[in-house]
Amino acid sequence: MASTIQIFTEFSRALRSTVTRQANWGILLAILAVIASTLFVAYMSAGELSIGAIGEAQRKNYALWVLDTMPVIFGLWGQYIGSLLAFEAGALVVDQTSKLRTQTEALEVQVLHGSTYDRLTDLPNRMLFHDRVEQAINNAKRNQEIMALLVLDMDEFKEVNNTLGHFSGDMLLKQLASRLRASVREIDTVARLGADEFAVLLPEIRQKDDAIHVARKLCQAMEREFILGGINLNMLMSIGVIFFPEHGGDVDTLLQKAEVALYLAKQTKGFSIEVYSPENDQHSTRRLTLLGELRQAIDHGGLLLHYQPKVDISSHRIVAVESLVRWQHPQYGMLPPDEFISLAERTGLIRPLTYWVIGEALKQCAAWQTHGFTIDVAVNVPVSVLLDSTFPERLEALLRQHRLAAGRLVVEITESSLMEDQEYALQLLSHLSSIGVRISIDDFGTGYSSLAYLRRLPVSEIKIDQSFVMGMLENENDAVIVHATIGLAHNLGMTAIAEGVAEAAILKKLTVWGCNLAQGHHISPPVDGKAITQLLGNSEWRMH
Ligand code: C2E
Ligand code: MG
Ligand code: MG
Repeated sequence: MASTIQIFTEFSRALRSTVTRQANWGILLAILAVIASTLFVAYMSAGELSIGAIGEAQRKNYALWVLDTMPVIFGLWGQYIGSLLAFEAGALVVDQTSKLRTQTEALEVQVLHGSTYDRLTDLPNRMLFHDRVEQAINNAKRNQEIMALLVLDMDEFKEVNNTLGHFSGDMLLKQLASRLRASVREIDTVARLGADEFAVLLPEIRQKDDAIHVARKLCQAMEREFILGGINLNMLMSIGVIFFPEHGGDVDTLLQKAEVALYLAKQTKGFSIEVYSPENDQHSTRRLTLLGELRQAIDHGGLLLHYQPKVDISSHRIVAVESLVRWQHPQYGMLPPDEFISLAERTGLIRPLTYWVIGEALKQCAAWQTHGFTIDVAVNVPVSVLLDSTFPERLEALLRQHRLAAGRLVVEITESSLMEDQEYALQLLSHLSSIGVRISIDDFGTGYSSLAYLRRLPVSEIKIDQSFVMGMLENENDAVIVHATIGLAHNLGMTAIAEGVAEAAILKKLTVWGCNLAQGHHISPPVDGKAITQLLGNSEWRMH
C-alpha cells in the first residue's frame, strides 16, 4: 500500500503540472498582448512598422512598460497559485484517503468478525471453535500436555422458546453466554455451536479433575435464577466431557465423542456431567457407530431418498413430491431420518447431507420430466444450511446441472427454525424467491411465528403440521387450528397444504374447507422413485 507521503507528493506533482500548463498559456497570451500593443503603438505614432518605430514605441510609451511586466507577473503568480493549490488539494486527498482506509479496515474487521462469531451472543461460532481446537491439539502435542473439551446443552430450552417466545429465548442465551464466559479463564474458549448448545475448550489442564472442576463451576453459574422480562427461571444443564489425547486425535472425532458424552449426560435429569466412555451403554455404542459412519454413508451411497406425493385436492392429481431421506444401514437396516438428522446437525454433517439430498431430488425430478411427468420436488432444508451464504449459489449450480427451472424446486423450512435470525432469514429467502425457488413453511403451528413477520416473508406455501391434521376429526381445537390456518394462508396469498392426511374422512373435510394440497398415508406413504413413477402413470392420483 502506498504511504501517505507518497500519495501526497504524487498528487501534488500532478496538480502542479496541470496548473503550470495553464500558467504557461497565460504567459504566452501576455507576450502576444505585449507584441500586438507594441506594433499598434509603433504604427499609430510613426505611421509605419519598422525596427526603429518599434524601439521608439517601447522607449517612450510607459503603458507598454507596464504591459511588458505582465508575462513575468503571470509566470510568478501561476507558480505561486499552483504550489498553493497543489499543497491544499494534496492535503485534502491525504486526509480523505486515510479516512477511507480506516473505514475499509473497520469494515474488513467487521466482516471477519461476523463470519467467525455468533451474532446473538458474540461468542466464537462453530467454525472459529474448530480452528481453536485444532490449534490447541497442535500445541498440546508439541508440549505433551492434555486438554479437555466440554459440550453443554440446556435442558428444556425449546420449551422456553415456545412458551415465552423467541425474544425471551434470545435473552436467556445471552445471559447464559456471559455467565459461561465469566466462569472460565482468559485462555479458555467458550463458543456457541448451535441453538442452545455451547462448548468450552480448556487448552491447558494439569489433570483430568481440573476439567471436572470447571464443569461443576459452569453448573454452579447456572444455578442462579435467570430473569427474563420479570419472569424468574431455573434452568438445568448437561455437560459432556472428553480429553485429548485419550479420546481422539482430531477435532471431528473429539467433537463427536463429546456429543456422545453429552447425550449420555442428558439421560440423567438435573445438572449432570458425563465423561466419555465407549462402554457406557448400548445406545451410545449405536449412536457412536452411526456418528462415525454417517460421513461414509453420505459420500458413498449409503443414503437414499423416498418421496411422498403432494396432491391437488380439487383435481386429485399429484403435483409435487416431498423428498425424505433414509439411511440403508448394513447392520441396523433402513433408518428413519429421526435417527440421524439431529446427529448430522450437531456434527456439521448436515451440510453435505442436505446438498446430497437436493442433488438427488433434482436428478429424480429431471428424470420424471423426461418421462413426461412435470412435477415439483420439495426438500427439507435446516436453517443452519439455509443461512450459509453460499446456499443460493450452490442451489443454482445444482439446478443448472440438472437443467431444471428453479420453479420446480420447493424448499421446506420449519416454522420454528425461521425465527432464529429473522432479518438474515428474510434476506436469504428473498434471494431464493428472486431466482424462482419456492419456499414452504413446514410444521406450521408448532413454531409461534408472528403474523407480522410471516407477512414479510416471500413464502408460497404453508404446511399445516400433521399433529393438528391427524387429530382434527376428534379434537375440536385441532379442527379450529387447521381451518383457521387454511384461511390464514389464503389471506396471505399462499397455498395451504395439510400433511399427515392419514384417512379419507380427513381429506373430505379439507376439501370442504378449501385446502389446496394434501400429503399423507391415505394418499401414499413415502416410497421410492420407481413407485412414484407408477403412481404418476397409473393410480387414482395419476398425472394424466
Ligand atoms: P417432515 O418434513 O414434516 O416430513 C413429514 C413426515 O411425516 C415424514 O416422516 C412422513 O413420512 C410423515 N408423514 C406424512 N404423512 C403421514 C401420515 O399420514 N401418517 C404418518 N404417521 N406419518 C406421515 P419422515 O420421513 O420420517 O421424516 C420425518 C422428518 O425428518 C421430516 O419431517 C423432516 O423434518 C426430517 N427429514 C426428512 N428428510 C429430511 C432431509 O432430507 N433433510 C432434513 N434436514 N430433514 C429431513
Ligand atoms: Mg417437510
Ligand atoms: Mg412437516
